[in-house]
Amino acid sequence: MSLSQSELELESGSALGEPHICAENEIPEHLRIHRVLEIDGDAKNHWEVFSLWLATGEDVLSGEAEEEGELLNLSSMKINFCPFCGAALNTN
Ligand SMILES: [Zn+2]
Repeated sequence: MSLSQSELELESGSALGEPHICAENEIPEHLRIHRVLEIDGDAKNHWEVFSLWLATGEDVLSGEAEEEGELLNLSSMKINFCPFCGAALNTN
């Protein structure tokens, strides 16, 4: 239950480059780290951590969502280092 990169691009209005994947893969499933190439058509070259809140079965039962896996909320922030492994995220 997760969003594909193209779905994430659509939802965030961004063009994304490669993901950062930790060597020990400690990133929680609802967080994604990507190079951001473009936001609303403007060229960028930085990294962001995206936090995805996807609907669970409970959210569907309570009427918060139509189906499981539906994106309920998306937020992101700019980062220079991976908050999980500390790797410097280069922008070259
Ligand atoms: Zn990392």
